Amino acid sequence: MDTKAPARRLPALLGGAVILALMAAMPLLGTGYILQLATDTLTAIVLAYGWNLISGFTGYLSFGQVSFYGIGAYTTALLVIHTAVPWYLAVLVSGVVGALAGLILGPIMLRLRGILFALGMLGLARILSVVFNIWGFAGASLGLSLPSALMPVPIYYATCLLALAAFGITAFFTHSGFGLDAMSLNEDEEAAAALGVPATRVKVIAFMLSAALPAIAGGLVAWNRSYMDPSSAFNPSLDLQVVVFVLFGGIGTLWGPFLGTLILMLAGEQFGVSFPNLQLALYGVVVVATVLAFPGGLNGIANRFGWLRRPVVRAPRGEIRGAPPPAGAAPPPGALLELRDITVRFTGLTALSGVSLTLSPGETLCVIGANGAGKTTLFNTITGFVTPTAGQVVYLGQTITALPTFRRARQGLARSFQIPRLMPSLTVWENVLLASRHGRQADRAEAHTAWVLEALGLAPMWSLPASRLSPGHQRQLEFARVLGLQPTVVLLDEVMAGMTAEERETVRAVVRRLPEFGVAGTILVEHVIAAVVDLCDRMVVLDFGRIIAEGPPREVLANPDVVKAYLGEAL
Ligand code: ATP
Repeated sequence: MDTKAPARRLPALLGGAVILALMAAMPLLGTGYILQLATDTLTAIVLAYGWNLISGFTGYLSFGQVSFYGIGAYTTALLVIHTAVPWYLAVLVSGVVGALAGLILGPIMLRLRGILFALGMLGLARILSVVFNIWGFAGASLGLSLPSALMPVPIYYATCLLALAAFGITAFFTHSGFGLDAMSLNEDEEAAAALGVPATRVKVIAFMLSAALPAIAGGLVAWNRSYMDPSSAFNPSLDLQVVVFVLFGGIGTLWGPFLGTLILMLAGEQFGVSFPNLQLALYGVVVVATVLAFPGGLNGIANRFGWLRRPVVRAPRGEIRGAPPPAGAAPPPGALLELRDITVRFTGLTALSGVSLTLSPGETLCVIGANGAGKTTLFNTITGFVTPTAGQVVYLGQTITALPTFRRARQGLARSFQIPRLMPSLTVWENVLLASRHGRQADRAEAHTAWVLEALGLAPMWSLPASRLSPGHQRQLEFARVLGLQPTVVLLDEVMAGMTAEERETVRAVVRRLPEFGVAGTILVEHVIAAVVDLCDRMVVLDFGRIIAEGPPREVLANPDVVKAYLGEAL
């Protein structure tokens, strides 16, 4: 049990209390320059937290979140100019409009990844800037003048509340199962889907939140400044600053956006007094130096001293000892899995051609074949990574050909990958919890995670990041994740490749134990035939995407066509 946890939390709690007290007392220092600087700094903190949600947690680097700041600013401006809505309601409506814009744009933009997403978002901000520059109702390039507000203290406190909400949402991301889902997308989106994570839903929600926060901030700024025009509403250097603040503080962390923004805003203000117009140059220097010297930013430095570490999500509260889960419903009678005349064509290449096969309850089926024969494509088709050009996949009597990967995983169709695709910076516990938590209540998921880790001998290393495990333990962890799903059918893709004889023995022992974990049927793809031949009830041989032999392993291995196409000589 982690008895030191409360003691370790004390500095953070004290720090939090001091920050809150300072925030509350700030207007006592006057309502002029200092309060405006505090309001601007808090606004930048909100923007930093907003950007961090989508770019830090899910890994979708955006250079266009300023779009939502601008949308929010114009929403408030138009509402207070053209309606009788009070300013605070207008600002809240800005948040709703921002979230809706995120809901509409998210599913479109988040189809892109990496540099394409970053450029897509940059393009979006530029398009909006042009639109607002010519849109007469919104004042075109001259912008809009709002009724003069002059209420610095209420606006300051409203910005404080928004900053606290942004911090709270980020804390939810670092502590919750939903946050774990979001972080898994940053690590490996495809592997996350194979563990039941609804990737699209999670990233669209993160995107909506990361749109709502700057939209509210934009509304407050518009009201505070009593003026808004396209060049300040969609200012690209605002995005650049926010990226620098978060990188400096620590991307994907709870405290990083706060620390990075606070320090750089205050330093930038001082620097700007002595060297006007050189603020952006200062930020440029800071980001280069930070990325080179401290990739984890200030938060990473604090972590080295044991401070500000992200707690393990739903960490076990005592010794890890889970009970075997209650037996699931028995699979319906008939085949567990059926492939009906599956053809998969990629551009200019047929990877599978008219493949039909069945997996019966209690069966271990081995699929062998030369490199490029179509074995992985077969697994990809069964698990939904690839949509077949023709044919049907039937699982437990239901056609699942069009079902998304995460739904298949939740229904108990689990797979491993040729090279383990763990979430390297998530802990061993979190890697398994990610699979166990879907479709289960929190305490059941934790008990199941504990049981799987204990059963596979991984319990002592539950708090280590997966990247710190030896290759053998990483393979075990991949098994643990597969079993975390409590699967009915397990697909294992070359799990013994590159292993020593001893490591293979460990894997063989786990494969033999699969029924103990409720697994009703297994398909093994393997090149190391000698290591699996006694595990298989039946063997299927693929050659250039076609089944050329099928039957009891020893008969298949003696088949002259198999010897000619794959083995070279009889085993
Ligand atoms: P190995 O034993 O080397 O893993 P395999 O039997 O698993 O091979 P697959 O990975 O299924 O073979 O590939 C079958 C064929 O389909 C190969 O020629 C491969 O290059 C091609 N292929 C697989 N995936 C794609 C893709 N997404 N786009 C285009 N071609 C692909």
